Amino acid sequence: MTTITEDKAAPGQLALIQALVNTQYGQSRRTHTELTSPEQMRVWLVAHNLLPDGIPVTEGDFRRFLQVREALRALLHANNDGEVSLTQIEVLNNLASNAPLTVHFQLDGRPALEPDIADIDGVIARLLGIVFTSMIDGSWDRLKVCRNERCQKAFYDTSKNRSGAWCSMTGCGSRSKANAYRQRHNEQNAQ
Ligand SMILES: [Zn+2]
Repeated sequence: MTTITEDKAAPGQLALIQALVNTQYGQSRRTHTELTSPEQMRVWLVAHNLLPDGIPVTEGDFRRFLQVREALRALLHANNDGEVSLTQIEVLNNLASNAPLTVHFQLDGRPALEPDIADIDGVIARLLGIVFTSMIDGSWDRLKVCRNERCQKAFYDTSKNRSGAWCSMTGCGSRSKANAYRQRHNEQNAQ
């Protein structure tokens, strides 16, 4: 039995991962796309306090950043009964090897993972650090990609038993229910 949760933001810094994945979702005419050029990506990074203003973003940076986004989307699929894509794991490991993190103790004595490199690889390092930390604190498991293949929007599953499968009840959830009903109905008629 799967339940449906409404669009909720992930807690803390995990919201940044959700925002990144949701710079694109949906297919064909319904597609939502925010990052279609290096300049748009630069503006997005500045707006999310990930990059100081005035630092140029190259085509190569742009390509790597979209690779990170889609590899993270693939990981989030696995949180919604999907399988981990080995190809995407390899992509993540390649990107991570150029994006080193160091343990940095904060003023309150608690450690945090921080990028040990500047520019876009530093941004990638910061994002992967957030993923790592959220996997340890358990919040990661609740960040999922909508089970509707034509949607794939990232949502935070706030249901008690972590059974949320769709990004919204009014959208993908109700469509999925309608499809299931139609299928049952057709099967009954065929008997
Ligand atoms: Zn959806």
